[in-house]
Amino acid sequence: DPIQENYVRQVRDCIFSVAYPTPFKSRVLLVAVSKVVLEEILDLDVSITETDDFLQFVSGGKVGIGFVPLAHRYGGHQFGSWAGQLGDGRAHMIGVYTNRYGERWELQLKGSGKTPYSRDGDGRAVLRSSVREFLCSEAMHYLGIPTSRAASLVVSDDDVWRDQFYNGNVKKERGAVVLRVAKSWFRIGSLEILAHSGELDLQRSLLDFIIQEHFPSISMNDSNRYLDFFSRVVSETANLIALWMSVGFAHGVCNTDNFSLLSITIDYGPFGFMESYDPDFVPNTSDDERRYKIGNQANVGLFNLDKLLQALKPLLDSRQKQLAFQIVEGYSSHYYLHFTELFKAKLGFLGEGEDDYYLIAFLLRLMEDTKADFTMTFRQLSEITQDQLKELHIPKEYWALQDLAKHKFFSDWVTMYLLRLRRSRYTQERLWGSLCARICRESSGKKGQTVSNKGDSDSKRRKRMTSINPRYVLRNWMAESAIRKAEMNDFSGVHLLQQVLQHPFQRQSVAEKAGYALHPPTWAKDLKVSCSS
Ligand code: AMP
Ligand code: MG
Ligand code: MG
Repeated sequence: DPIQENYVRQVRDCIFSVAYPTPFKSRVLLVAVSKVVLEEILDLDVSITETDDFLQFVSGGKVGIGFVPLAHRYGGHQFGSWAGQLGDGRAHMIGVYTNRYGERWELQLKGSGKTPYSRDGDGRAVLRSSVREFLCSEAMHYLGIPTSRAASLVVSDDDVWRDQFYNGNVKKERGAVVLRVAKSWFRIGSLEILAHSGELDLQRSLLDFIIQEHFPSISMNDSNRYLDFFSRVVSETANLIALWMSVGFAHGVCNTDNFSLLSITIDYGPFGFMESYDPDFVPNTSDDERRYKIGNQANVGLFNLDKLLQALKPLLDSRQKQLAFQIVEGYSSHYYLHFTELFKAKLGFLGEGEDDYYLIAFLLRLMEDTKADFTMTFRQLSEITQDQLKELHIPKEYWALQDLAKHKFFSDWVTMYLLRLRRSRYTQERLWGSLCARICRESSGKKGQTVSNKGDSDSKRRKRMTSINPRYVLRNWMAESAIRKAEMNDFSGVHLLQQVLQHPFQRQSVAEKAGYALHPPTWAKDLKVSCSS
């Protein structure tokens, strides 16, 4: 009896437990699908989504032939303390698919019922949090940030009871399921649990599997392979968090069980995109200690990597342990280097400037003091011309910059900024100069040819900046409006956001009409999200 496999228990000596999804008892509706994920990752034609088989498969009603569904056993540090066994408490891996590009993808349902790891949970996920995960994971992908993807979202009429703000107000909601895909769902907690329970042979097997599948440049014969793996996770995690910061994304629950070993963004819960700039921004109202505030994410990343190192220690010799500590010590400088590169690009800088870090920090400080909108400040700096900036004449459409301009040091910053942009132009000219010299050397015989000197024109700067500073991110209020409609079985809001967030760098009239590039509406100020999902 497959359902028997789902009883909640402490599990040992395995990486996965067999666990079948629990079908919904009531009607199931397809809320949304990602055509790109279906076609480009899963080699499916989108017309399949009209079939009952598809609906059954993506809602946990029917499993594919030839694959036994699994729940993964993992542990983790939650809010700083070891939490013991966690695991996929409401997720089922329902397949592994190698597509026409030879990429191996793991398909996972979330919200599909109890597993051995459900603890006191019901194994379900409600519509609101599922809409948020579906939209945000796709949005992050289109922002260029490594992430799990979402293929489909369904909602049922099955009752799911949630106390959304942990205030004793339990409400009836509906169960939903997201089909999410990733190259791997292994987390730091996947290795931690094996180290904690002393299952070192199994830990070695898992680590070797992960390295073989996902780190092809590391040789399986190399006795330093675990060290190399660790080094890679350290730098990629630093890169990921710097990317989060570059778009103002706060994950909300940076526990080690939510940190991927492939350094992709996973487990979207009470995340948030920062609106007015605030390093103390905490998206999750249940995070009382403000542990996972946006400005603390880099530190928490280090905490998590240190926990990974603790888990790897039993597999390292003393020299390797020494080296691993040095790798951890390099994390901060690696992070700052990447952060600085990203923000330099956001500001349109080319080449090196001595004061680049200062200019970035100065701007962030102005934003913090004036509460200027983070996303739109960078976007509007990308759209405004240098001439307009020079005259300190900020047209009304650049509302975030108008907020910023209220700061008494705004004009000082602008002066430095414009000077630095001029240096970008010279850098570009120098690059062009040496390139031209090389071309001339290499094309001997064509002496005397002139190559036009194309400097870094302002239009090039703006083009460069608008291609990396998004105009649209998934702000809470945008998700919330889509959710309110979806609760009434009107999924048009979800579809609109899906469409807009596929092209976050392109001005779109539907998005402008919806106010997605305007000051957030006043009702958005009171919006809260919690861990309840
Ligand atoms: P999270 O912080 O949301 O990623 O979840 C932490 C742990 O709680 C994971 O092991 C989840 O599988 C589990 N969990 C969260 N919600 C539920 C639920 N409703 N039923 C069962 N397990 C859950
Ligand atoms: Mg999780
Ligand atoms: Mg969750």
